[in-house]
Parts: sequence; C-alpha cells; structure tokens
Amino acid sequence: MGLLTNKTALIFGVANKNSIAWGITKAFHDAGARIALSYAGEALKKRVLPLAEEVGAQFVEECDVRDDAALDSVFAKFAQQHGRLDVLVHSIAFANREDLGGRFINISREGFSLALDVSAYSLIALAKRAAPLMTEGGSIMSMTYYASEKVMPDYNVMSIAKAALESITRYLAVDLGEQRIRVNAISAGPIKTLAAAGIPGFRNLLRHFDKVAPLGEQVTIEQVGQAALFLASDMSQMVTGEVLHVDAGYHTLGLTVPRSEMEKGD
Ligand code: NAD
Repeated sequence: MGLLTNKTALIFGVANKNSIAWGITKAFHDAGARIALSYAGEALKKRVLPLAEEVGAQFVEECDVRDDAALDSVFAKFAQQHGRLDVLVHSIAFANREDLGGRFINISREGFSLALDVSAYSLIALAKRAAPLMTEGGSIMSMTYYASEKVMPDYNVMSIAKAALESITRYLAVDLGEQRIRVNAISAGPIKTLAAAGIPGFRNLLRHFDKVAPLGEQVTIEQVGQAALFLASDMSQMVTGEVLHVDAGYHTLGLTVPRSEMEKGD
C-alpha cells in the first residue's frame, strides 16, 4: 500500500522532465496515485505525452488557465473519466519578460494583470472547479517562492504574484476547511526549469544558493516531490493554510554571506 493508493491526483504544470510538477508527479505515482495531467499549449504536447505514458496517465488534457471555458471542459472531462478527485496540484506561473528584471517601478498595468491572472488567480479558478469533485475531502497545493516574503533581485512582478498566491492559499484553506479540503503551498528553493530561465539573474542566484543555504545543497524536483507527497497524503491531515519551505533552510537566514567568506574573518 502506497501513501496515495486509491487516490487520484490532477496535476497542472508539467512542461518537461525538469518541471517541478514532474518531480511531484513521479512521487505521487510511486506512492500509488492515479495520475491525471493538464498542460498548456500544443507546443508542449510532444514533451508531455511520453511523460504521461511513463506514469500511466490516461487523462492528459491541454488547458490555458486564463480560459474559463477550457477550465470547465477539463474538469467536466475529468469528472466523467475519474469521478472523485483527491489531490490537485497547481504548478503554474507566467510573466512577460519585461516585467522580470529591470526597474520594479516600470511594471506595466497589462503585465501586472497577466502575471497575477496566470500565476495567482488561477489557483482560485482551479480550486472552485476541483472542490465539488473532492467528495471525500482532499488536498490542494501550489508552488511559491521566497521572493513573496523578501525582495529578491529581478523577480519583480512574480514576487507580487507569489505573495497573492500565498494569501489565496490561506483564504481557500478557510473557505474549504468545512469540506475537509486542505490547501497549502510549497516554497521551493531555486531549481533550473523553463520558468526559472525567464528570470534574468537566476543563474547567479542558483550559483550563490548552496554556498549560503544551511543544508549546503541545491534543491531538486524529487525533493519537492517528497514534500508534496506529505501534503497530499494523510500524513499531513491536520495541515492547512501552510507555506512549507523546501529550500534547504534558506528562508531562515538574515545574512546571506557564504560560509567560506565568514570563516575568513576580516
Ligand atoms: P516550468 O516552466 O516547468 O512550469 C511552469 C508551468 O506553468 C509550465 O508547465 C507552463 O506550461 C505553465 N503555464 C504557464 N502559463 C500557463 C497558462 N496560461 N495556463 C496553464 N499553464 C501555464 O517551471 P517550474 O519552475 O517547474 O514552475 C512551476 C511552479 O514552481 C511555478 O509556480 C514557479 O513559480 C514555481 N517555483 C519555481 C521555482 C524554481 O526555481 N524553478 C522555485 C519556486 C517556485
């Protein structure tokens, strides 16, 4: 018996084998879950279909989370094919390149709306459609980043989207608590993915990370997958409204000077 035997997980956000959502998918599959996937855009299809096959996912649907009709259709198809839903994963973010990097003050109204719509509002849109299918309770989770709490170079509009996402997590946790649906977020350390490549200073950030993080290592999608498994399973049955940091302890730091520099003294 795996931790997710007899449970079905619907996962949004697998783009390729480097995606955090793929790390989560593998962990859920290994724990016995039935996997259903939704991805964005025809261009990703050729990458996602072989991955879906690897985990025996029979439900693989394209969906742009900005499109209400597309969302309705995905959830209707899911309900028809699987009936009950137990776990929903939101691993989605997008912002225009010009709103990542450069001066924060230059964020445009359109860029703000787009980033917040795709990266934050979409959690409400997914939860609203998932909740009626979670007839035996459930677990909803999304992926956030520390830039919601502290200013990180170049994250600009995405920082605001992540702050909104974390707030939405708490409000949904309260709204859905009566239905025994738990809502949490994972705040992952930096990982080299397609989305991360859009942040101009990301490579420097990554290079710096393991030199200062208390655990002294980069975070992997497999490690995020294990934390997601905890949040998806009954192991976390009284955990809701939480932002779980899976970041090698980085968020605890007040001073981010590499240990090697500190040891040199002055
Ligand atoms: P990724 O590029 O693999 O995943 C991002 C996903 O968002 C892609 O699958 C993409 O298709 C999807 N997406 C974008 N616009 C969409 C839309 N309109 N409709 C539906 N889907 C859409 O990158 P990732 O790093 O795995 O990102 C997953 C999540 O993890 C994001 O929320 C990201 O902000 C978060 N996160 C990433 C890091 C990191 O360092 N990589 C750290 C913390 C949190």
